Amino acid sequence: MKHIWILTIVILAVAAHSFSQSENDRLREQMVKHQIEARDVKSKPVLNAMKKVPRHEFVPEKYHKEAYNDHPLPIGYGQTISQPYIVALMTELAEVTKGEKVLEIGTGSGYQAAVLAEITDSVFTIEIITELTNEAKPRFQRLGYRKITVKNADGYYGWKEYAPFDVIVVTAAAEHIPPPLIEQLKEGGKMIIPVGHPLQVQDLLVVEKKDGKVRSKNIIPVRFVPLVRGSKK
Ligand code: SAH
Repeated sequence: MKHIWILTIVILAVAAHSFSQSENDRLREQMVKHQIEARDVKSKPVLNAMKKVPRHEFVPEKYHKEAYNDHPLPIGYGQTISQPYIVALMTELAEVTKGEKVLEIGTGSGYQAAVLAEITDSVFTIEIITELTNEAKPRFQRLGYRKITVKNADGYYGWKEYAPFDVIVVTAAAEHIPPPLIEQLKEGGKMIIPVGHPLQVQDLLVVEKKDGKVRSKNIIPVRFVPLVRGSKK
């Protein structure tokens, strides 16, 4: 009799787990349809990546239920995970293709890096807050994003050792485009970066480096947490 009870409890636990799993899958599908495709993001690799990455795993447990909502969420240390649409838009603008080398500045939860890693195998990401770096590393391991390389440093200086990059995605607001990042961008490469006053609305820019010239295009107004300056290179 006792065994039957234990078995029943195990079956119920497994059922509850797979229910919440499929509930998250359903919420993710809805998120892509109503927040991302509805706002005209069309890139198939981007839509597929957004359908695949379990966003709820990147937010603190108390926000699991809100993970697929149409807004940013706190991730601790005064930082936020961006709104799903902004992550999708930045990834689409970056036009990343398989095999390209990508640098992200501002790892935060690691969500944007994971979305990029669904498209290419070569993702490098820098985070200035030690605690967030230390949380992102095991999260990448646990979720199977083993090829993402993370370091704790001031991303203003880029990552010289692995430069040049095909794509650079900056997910914190900069007052100007950091010259080291322009330098580390490949000829023909693209940088997606919010530029403007750190505590106001910024412009999301697409910066292209072609024939030695740097051109930038203003896409939409955005609001990011500031790119802060540290001492670590
Ligand atoms: N891409 C993240 C969200 C970014 S929030 C995600 O998907 O969750 C911006 C992040 O940039 C914060 O974690 C902040 O600590 C980090 N940051 C701010 N200034 C930085 C700098 N100079 N170098 C590296 N990271 C920085």
